[in-house]
Amino acid sequence: MNTQTPQSWEARADAHSFYGFTDLPTVADRGTIVLTHGKGPYVYDVHGREYLDGNSGLWNMVAGFDHKGLTEAAKAQYDKFPGYHAFFGRMSDQTVMLSEKLIEVSPFNRGKVFYTNSGSEANDTMVKMLWFLWASEGQPQRRKILTRENGYHGVTVVSASMTGKPYNSVFGLPLDGFIHLSCPHYWRFGKEGESEAQFTKRMAKELEDTIKKEGPETIAGFFAEPVMGAGGVIPPSKGYFQAIQPILKRYNIPLIADEVITGFGRTGETWGCETYDFVPDAIISSKNLTAGFFPMGAVLLGPDLTDRLQKAAEEIEEFPHGFTASGHPVGCAIALKAIDVVLNEGLLDNVRKLTPLFEEGMARLAEKKNIGEWRGKGLMGALEAVKDKDTKTPFDGSLSVSERIANACTDHGLICRPLGQAVVLCPAFIMTPAHMDEMFSKLDSALDKVFAEVG
Ligand SMILES: *Cc1c(COP(=O)(O)O)cnc(C)c1O
Repeated sequence: MNTQTPQSWEARADAHSFYGFTDLPTVADRGTIVLTHGKGPYVYDVHGREYLDGNSGLWNMVAGFDHKGLTEAAKAQYDKFPGYHAFFGRMSDQTVMLSEKLIEVSPFNRGKVFYTNSGSEANDTMVKMLWFLWASEGQPQRRKILTRENGYHGVTVVSASMTGKPYNSVFGLPLDGFIHLSCPHYWRFGKEGESEAQFTKRMAKELEDTIKKEGPETIAGFFAEPVMGAGGVIPPSKGYFQAIQPILKRYNIPLIADEVITGFGRTGETWGCETYDFVPDAIISSKNLTAGFFPMGAVLLGPDLTDRLQKAAEEIEEFPHGFTASGHPVGCAIALKAIDVVLNEGLLDNVRKLTPLFEEGMARLAEKKNIGEWRGKGLMGALEAVKDKDTKTPFDGSLSVSERIANACTDHGLICRPLGQAVVLCPAFIMTPAHMDEMFSKLDSALDKVFAEVG
């Protein structure tokens, strides 16, 4: 129960902070959790309560909440050169080094990087780049953007139009020309008697039919997360990217991998596209890029798009786009350190080591009669609550099952996130097997409690 007084942190949060992506009835009932600090994968609230954060912040705090190497890199750069832009032929040495590093660790043998402050802005930037280059190449009508239902690409006007979630209708979005294909979630959308291979084929056929119907000469690009994250942790059906990439190539449509969540280790490889064995034309990065220690996004262009954009920009003598803090030296210094920490200081190795434990824990919870499936890849996973396992029938929406589960977890000192009727786990890469046990045993108790109430 929410026992806040007018002077409490909870009431003060309500009074002057406007909440985004927050279930207002839950906050009214329980109060906002106001946090003061973190330690390893734990965070602490103003009352001294400890929570194991099963979502590593918002997928991004992969090195934990007090990584000394990262805070030291930040402090050193603040002391040396605390801010600069990347306009007018100037940029910081850190920015130069980060671009070199990003291309080095990318799947591209050469390419270029453009910086933003967020994943949404990186997707917006990529769309502007595509519009810019197609127009420069004499195809200004190539403006339509293809994405998928349940894809999440951000919240700015363009990236929200790319996002395939119904809640954006309250803003009158998507804008015209943003087309959402079917979500390649076999368990939920496979038809009676349809094999996974047939399902993948159907997804590919839908893509080709859509391209033909819209006219390939009107399509600027296709964006996809290797594993859908905020749409509910949905790995693609088997062979999905192998089925769609040749179609995109045939119609000369760039494939952009939105790796804001999957980039830098989440799926067990540096990039999600490596896990799913395809090379995109460009990569969108954010979140783990700085291990959550600085707001930053980046567009990584592969060789073909690099050359074409370079040519388009040279034609009018500039690419008229950029953010005041694009390539911020402190953000770049932190990202350089974060990449080193993830790739070279054992975090990616730990993801691989923990993955079997994670899968085991998820599979065990998925035996419950009200869990329809568990799905995921590497250290990202979701458990889908269902009223009836055999028919995959969801609970009545008014029961708010996943919110109840998340709230019961909070009561047990575990943070995890409700998404539709699923509960999402995406732990930090620094977790130990003991942290894993703690996470699953707390979630186990929370599930039992809620299913006893509603099941
Ligand atoms: C979080 C996310 C974004 C948006 O990033 P912001 O920094 O919140 O703007 C875009 N794409 C994907 C796949 C994401 O998970």
